[in-house]
Amino acid sequence: MVSSLQVPAAAPTPAYICPFDRTCSYLQQAADELQIDPNVIVILEQPRKVVTVSIPVKLDNGQVKVLAGHRVQHCDVLGPYKGGTRYHPAVSLQELSALAMLMTWKCALLGIPYGGAKGGIAINPSHYSLGELERITRRYVSELIKDIGPELDIPAPDIGTSSREMAWMMDTYSMNMGRAIPGVVTGKPLSIGGSKGRDLATGRGVMIAVREALLEQNRSLKGVKIVIQGFGKVGAAAAQLFHEAGAKILAVSDVSGGIFNEQGLDIPALQLYAAQNNYSIAGFSGGEMISNAELLTLPCEVLIPAALEDQITEENAGQIQAKIVVEAANAPITLIADQILETKGVMVLPDILANAGGVVVSYLEWVQGQSYVFWDEKRVNREMEKLMVHAYHRVSERSQKQGVSMRLAAYTLGVGRVAQALSDRGLYP
Ligand code: GLU
Repeated sequence: MVSSLQVPAAAPTPAYICPFDRTCSYLQQAADELQIDPNVIVILEQPRKVVTVSIPVKLDNGQVKVLAGHRVQHCDVLGPYKGGTRYHPAVSLQELSALAMLMTWKCALLGIPYGGAKGGIAINPSHYSLGELERITRRYVSELIKDIGPELDIPAPDIGTSSREMAWMMDTYSMNMGRAIPGVVTGKPLSIGGSKGRDLATGRGVMIAVREALLEQNRSLKGVKIVIQGFGKVGAAAAQLFHEAGAKILAVSDVSGGIFNEQGLDIPALQLYAAQNNYSIAGFSGGEMISNAELLTLPCEVLIPAALEDQITEENAGQIQAKIVVEAANAPITLIADQILETKGVMVLPDILANAGGVVVSYLEWVQGQSYVFWDEKRVNREMEKLMVHAYHRVSERSQKQGVSMRLAAYTLGVGRVAQALSDRGLYP
């Protein structure tokens, strides 16, 4: 962990390498491969700015609680900082620093003119009322008022936040500035300048990445057996789109556990069930209950971790039966697990490629807002697909040419672009 952040990494096992150190390790591998000047890499290993603010909030019972809110800005060499806002109990500066760095490589790889950032608050949003969440979100934005902006740093949804929080953020920023500034956040509701297609965008990007990987093997999505960990914004959207494309979703899960059906789950029925049961899949009768651990090692062709970090570890990587593992979540595979999967010949589609559909449509939302012209959903999906397909094939080509993993190929393309820009701009002063 970088000393300047002074955040001790959690260490469940002695061999555990936290997501930040892991991302730095991939950065170093890419730097070695490209022979990038170490004077450039030393800059990219650190976030440029780390902001922590106090958020005093009056709870519904009258008590005042003070929360800590963070925003980590990793790099703005290519453009404004960009990245989600996470509300989850495991949020830490270490985690946000890793996620911010991933955003830098993701945006650079996809060719969108942004740098990387990530923000968050270590809370379980389900423990707070609607009013409390609104007060927390509004005070968080007020405290960050000088650090965000449509040309400076543009937050978006992440785990635990949605278009609802983005609307509060946009409103708070705009009220402080005295005029409507929709471009300060993306992932907004359509009514205030959100983009069509944003809600399914990350899942759609995941589907496109898998479709392209199968196409290279002269196969289609029809009948392909898929297992998805996570049934939130990303997992549920991916499940829906894979189902519509004719794939067979054998199992999905959420925090309550998993549900498995060898014949393929009825995804529309499951979505309806979840919507009627507080977004939980627990108790769905169309399959048998399994644990999240069992789900990861089920026999299938494509395994999609779409939840949190560190799900595929040295303990379970050896038992993974999928031929393709797709990082719909950010950093779901530990460093050692990644090596185990590579040795087993499993193809890993890395997070900075596989889940980039979300930030790509965020970019398209921002472009539409800045130009006051709004597109229909077909156009949004088409533009996103173009960028995803192009990035996928650049990564795949490099992976084959250099004989390296898809992850290393993706990192070399993303890191290479940022390093080039940094060298061209030069070191100030
Ligand atoms: N939170 C998403 C991600 O990790 C989206 C970020 C954005 O749209 O800015 O990519």
